Amino acid sequence: MEVDVDSSLGVPNETDVLVIGGGPGGSTAAIMLTELGHRVTLLEKAHHPRFHIGESLLPANLPLLERLGVLDQVKAIGMQKWGAEFFSKWHGRGETFEFGGSWNKSLQFAYQVRRSQFDEILIRRAEQRGATVIEGRRVRDVDFLPASGGAIVHAEHEDGSRACWRTRYVVDASGRDTFFGNRMNVKHRNPKHSSAAMFGHFKGARRYPDARRAGLISIYWFEHGWFWFIPLADGVTSIGAVVWPYYLKSRKGGVREFFEETIAMCPPLAERLAGAQLVTEVEATGNYSYECALSHGNNFLIVGDAYAFIDPMFSSGVMLAMNSGFEAARTADICLRQPNQSAHALKRYHRMMQRGPREYSWFINRVTGPTMRNLFMSPRNVFRMKEAVLSLLAGDIFGRSRIGPSLFAFKSLYYIASFLTPRRSLAALRQRALNIKAIESERMAAD
Ligand SMILES: Cc1cc2nc3c(=O)[nH]c(=O)nc-3n(C[C@H](O)[C@H](O)[C@H](O)COP(=O)(O)OP(=O)(O)OC[C@H]3O[C@@H](n4cnc5c(N)ncnc54)[C@H](O)[C@@H]3O)c2cc1C
Repeated sequence: MEVDVDSSLGVPNETDVLVIGGGPGGSTAAIMLTELGHRVTLLEKAHHPRFHIGESLLPANLPLLERLGVLDQVKAIGMQKWGAEFFSKWHGRGETFEFGGSWNKSLQFAYQVRRSQFDEILIRRAEQRGATVIEGRRVRDVDFLPASGGAIVHAEHEDGSRACWRTRYVVDASGRDTFFGNRMNVKHRNPKHSSAAMFGHFKGARRYPDARRAGLISIYWFEHGWFWFIPLADGVTSIGAVVWPYYLKSRKGGVREFFEETIAMCPPLAERLAGAQLVTEVEATGNYSYECALSHGNNFLIVGDAYAFIDPMFSSGVMLAMNSGFEAARTADICLRQPNQSAHALKRYHRMMQRGPREYSWFINRVTGPTMRNLFMSPRNVFRMKEAVLSLLAGDIFGRSRIGPSLFAFKSLYYIASFLTPRRSLAALRQRALNIKAIESERMAAD
């Protein structure tokens, strides 16, 4: 077939699958595709090790890491995390959830990792398994060829030079850059689920003396959102505030000063940070949640954050990205080798991509409200509800644990509790609507 390629770019390089982006989603897909015998090229715009936020993993990540052959490396850099602690200022206390109490008793703990190290382990593994990994290359354009002829991918090197690849298949793992989502205009912000974040790393934050508790992720709810406290193995602690954007917009001074002022609004966290030193710049991100209307198309699949992003309260992002990397590899393999089965495989892929964000979103949309907070602060295992919620917290949503009926019971209990406290529920709904309204008007102003 004749390929229309800009002659100044020369003959395109050939590959079977081109992966855009070398975060956890892209590297996982690349590793699995090489194992399935495909020639894989992964283009990453940055150079690893590079900073990335999102240090807290879930127990459900561990079997995935083992399958990729990197579990020991991750163990060597990780801080063991046995569970999560939720601290509510309205209750004046915390409640700890240990993963060991979840439905699947083999999912006992997870790790917290510096993402620069973790993501580098994965991308180097992809290289080791035979993928061609090229860093410092940003994908600029993709031209799909007619009649399932694959695609031409155009990329720019950081020195400004350009190159292109002819590929049979493309996996978009570009994270929040949402390469195809933007290009195809299929990315939709989730208005119910808006937040923004500020974060930095601290040295000298106070940890729990008990070794098992020392690695817990702590979540602190406060009036403008919530904080995370994520202890890392090298003594550094990742601290972040996820707040309603109206609050971020109320900032008068620098981001660092504003972050410190925000921490002071949460005394139990401020106490743990008394005497600690900020060792990084404070970064702020408008992390509005979104989802793409497409997870696949003719000769391409979208994985991880490139497809959807949800509030990180349940630390689900890396697990969802890696899980989709596995599924993308399986699906692309079917599309390339057994095209007559591709329609069924793609349908299955799409259902899986929708499932993760949907399961977590139901909780995230409600967890900053009083009814859900009360349920979290006084968990009960009637109908195995606590085990089911713990399974969700452990990331066990694609496994064999039959948590559906117990989650349904938990959701029913939530609706009954809301119904029985109508004034409080209405006030919470009104408050939430106000927050969203403020965001919508800001967005309109920005447009
Ligand atoms: C404030 C915040 C806190 C979070 N906390 C957690 C947490 O505690 N636990 C958790 O599990 N998740 C957390 N997350 C989410 C988590 O970071 C992401 O879900 C995860 O990194 C997604 O992996 P990915 O591979 O899809 O994308 P990414 O990890 O973002 O990787 C995408 C890669 O693609 C590259 N890229 C982008 N565009 C191009 C291009 N055009 N060409 C070439 N390369 C490109 C990027 O450089 C990047 O390396 C958090 C997110 C935020 C914003």
